[in-house]
Amino acid sequence: MRARGCGSYSHAMHVRAVQVAKVTMHDVVDYRCTSCGFRSKAAVSVRGRAEIDAWPSRQASELAALAAEIDAHRAIEEAVGLASCPSCRKRDGAARRRALWRRFGMSFGAGVVASIGGLFVAGKLDANPLVGMAIAAVAVTALVWPLRYRRALAHADRIELVSQS
Ligand SMILES: [Zn+2]
Repeated sequence: MRARGCGSYSHAMHVRAVQVAKVTMHDVVDYRCTSCGFRSKAAVSVRGRAEIDAWPSRQASELAALAAEIDAHRAIEEAVGLASCPSCRKRDGAARRRALWRRFGMSFGAGVVASIGGLFVAGKLDANPLVGMAIAAVAVTALVWPLRYRRALAHADRIELVSQS
């Protein structure tokens, strides 16, 4: 999944045939707190999205739909892992770190796109284009990264945890 963001950069100069699929998935999964052992059922709804490089065909759209479903399953797993425990209020540290780094990859992709803008601005201002690109990439990554991470936590906190006791 991470390679997708990097891939779009190298394709930026070409004409791309892309199949995009989106799914919305509702699921009830098991939640278990890693700190206090609290267990419950969790009702999660997520959106999955996938893009594959292919010219439109039935196979391509089926493949994209499958990839979107896999993405949705991953999102469910992540959201349940990130939910804070209703009993002890703790959030799993490992799940938090995974979510944070995954979003760094995504945000860095946005930073790379921004660096092209930085190159353009640097040209206009007669500044060093590499410095302009670097500043734009770092600034956008630094802005987008915490934003995406906080959005993931907010989504996890909207999960309904239903106690089994
Ligand atoms: Zn707990």
